Amino acid sequence: MTYRGLAEKLIRDAGAEAGDTVRVRSAKGDVEGVLMPHHDFSGEDIVTLKMRSGYNVGLHVDAKSELDLVQRAARRDRVARDLPPSRGLPKVTLLGTGGTIASYVDYRTGAVHPATTAEELAFAVPEVFQLADVQPRVVFQVFSEDMAPENWQVLAREVYRAFQEGARGVVVPHGTDTMQYTAAMLGFMLQGLPGPCVVVGAQRSSDRPSSDAAMNLQGAVQAAAQAHLGEVAVAMHGTTSDEDVVLHRGTRVRKMHTSRRDAFQSVNCPPLGRVHEGRVTLAPHARPPTGHALQLLDKFEEDVALVWSYPGMRPEHIERAAGKGIVIAGSGLGHIPNRLVPTVRKLTKKGVVVALASHCLNGRVNLHVYSTGRDLLQAGAIAAHDMLPEVAYCKLMWALGNAKDAERAVEMFQKPVAGELDERTPVEGFGGR
Ligand code: GLU
Repeated sequence: MTYRGLAEKLIRDAGAEAGDTVRVRSAKGDVEGVLMPHHDFSGEDIVTLKMRSGYNVGLHVDAKSELDLVQRAARRDRVARDLPPSRGLPKVTLLGTGGTIASYVDYRTGAVHPATTAEELAFAVPEVFQLADVQPRVVFQVFSEDMAPENWQVLAREVYRAFQEGARGVVVPHGTDTMQYTAAMLGFMLQGLPGPCVVVGAQRSSDRPSSDAAMNLQGAVQAAAQAHLGEVAVAMHGTTSDEDVVLHRGTRVRKMHTSRRDAFQSVNCPPLGRVHEGRVTLAPHARPPTGHALQLLDKFEEDVALVWSYPGMRPEHIERAAGKGIVIAGSGLGHIPNRLVPTVRKLTKKGVVVALASHCLNGRVNLHVYSTGRDLLQAGAIAAHDMLPEVAYCKLMWALGNAKDAERAVEMFQKPVAGELDERTPVEGFGGR
């Protein structure tokens, strides 16, 4: 993230560094602001300044441009090096996995650096030390689209270790793209959680004035430190403003928008609670710790597919995808084109578990209503009931990995494990809040 070419020469000649206040004379006139680090996406002749308003401007510089140092920023270490000593607050372990939220924010420039050390991770939002004795650990540095099932397993073991070592709660900063999968899988792999395990992300990077990173992380740490909760939750902004951080059940949540800060919504289950004005409140259905010993069931069968059904779906589209199991997000009550029923039969006869979810997401699968559904049942398919398709996918991997045979895996799949499945789907779950 260093400047190159002409921009670099102007900055070097002025003796300026990122974070200093500079004045740039360019075709746009005189502009004063805080010099931001070079961004990979901007051209060589662009100098980026953070304006007083908090917004960044990219200024095109040429041979006639000038750059003067106006004020040198008070230099401060990139991060405080040592973690503060214990203050007797609840112990919260922070397990960094990557993504925007796990980036270190330089408050001087507002720039984001991926946290590579535990200290950087913790000091991304130093306010967390007022809320808990934070013990940070960097587990991975990956974008969440690159997460693989092995990562879920490693993470589940780390969460287990943190609780065994006496954590009151665990916070997992995570990229938002696939956060719902990780949250669901942690719910299956860790049973009998003695405290909250809060997975948290950010939709806007911390260098933007609208960033949700700091507030979400503080909300997550506060929930982990205080909530009487024995399950995996996802903590994200509740609205597009900074009103509250909502806690969603890890197996009932979904990223429903590419960019809005309130992108995560609970589906088929109201949120578990919220952190508002420094207070954590939980809904009555939030599950407290059971008092049973924490169990780590971290095996999984990776050869499972998740596919979406569509009118033009052909037999080979499911046959090629199916491994030991396949979750099909069917239409409506859980249907796929009737002409594919023989393919489903062929698969189930071979011992492949075929589960039907719905791409309606809300509501439950019912294969008893229409003839297609009944034909699918007769062909050996099973219903994912009111589980989200991606949750059903994680659960099927987990069930096939931990059961001794496919029959037992089907039993495990159809029983509630981590709040992902209910006999009745509450009507108030619709619409997210
Ligand atoms: N796409 C990346 C991820 O999911 C970065 C964006 C984010 O942190 O939400 O990890």
